Amino acid sequence: MAVPQHRASKTRKRLRRTHFKLSVPGMVECPQCHEFKLSHRVCPNCGMYNKRQVLEKRA
Ligand SMILES: [Zn+2]
Repeated sequence: MAVPQHRASKTRKRLRRTHFKLSVPGMVECPQCHEFKLSHRVCPNCGMYNKRQVLEKRA
């Protein structure tokens, strides 16, 4: 197993982690209800896809 020769300093560790970011991929705003949804998916909030009602609204 590879073992690091030297312990990374606080700065080096933090610099490495600047490239390690949280991301929310593929989120777009629904044109109908302006909720965030996954792109190329039916909006779970209003059930619209491609300006068409795909899912029934549940009261
Ligand atoms: Zn929607």
